[in-house]
Amino acid sequence: MPTIFEKIINAEIPSHKVYEDDLVLAFLDINPLSTGHTLLIPKEPAPTIDQLSPEAAAALGRALPALCRAIQRATGNDALNILLNNTKPAGQLVPHVHFHIIPKPETGSPGGQGLSAPWKPSEIDHDEAAALASDIAAAMKM
Ligand code: AMP
Repeated sequence: MPTIFEKIINAEIPSHKVYEDDLVLAFLDINPLSTGHTLLIPKEPAPTIDQLSPEAAAALGRALPALCRAIQRATGNDALNILLNNTKPAGQLVPHVHFHIIPKPETGSPGGQGLSAPWKPSEIDHDEAAALASDIAAAMKM
């Protein structure tokens, strides 16, 4: 069953397209958190980023900074957040990889609030962190 983003890629449903190349597509989010809220997706139908091919990942990486610059120019605002919800428990509603690029308007200005996720840092435990960093480093080699 194709996701809504595959239907957008195939032009079966409309979108406010802002960029397209052979491997990626970017379009405005239909329920923006702020003016200029844009989604950048690979054309490859990977549900989560850990399942994405290196080629599609590289294409996203190539497009992302240019897209950010274009959004900054068009909105006149350099402040933005980039977010990727990976899997349903992390808030992903559409199972097709997508970066949110979300301009952050100044408080009180029109155009929405942008991203206001609760950000609650904790204190690192250096012993646990050393073991964890070594586990992740080992997993990178698998
Ligand atoms: P996520 O929760 O990270 O999966 O975000 C999915 C995003 O897709 C939401 O911000 C939706 O507003 C957006 N969205 C869903 N359907 C469409 C659509 N047809 N066109 C543009 N954006 C969409």
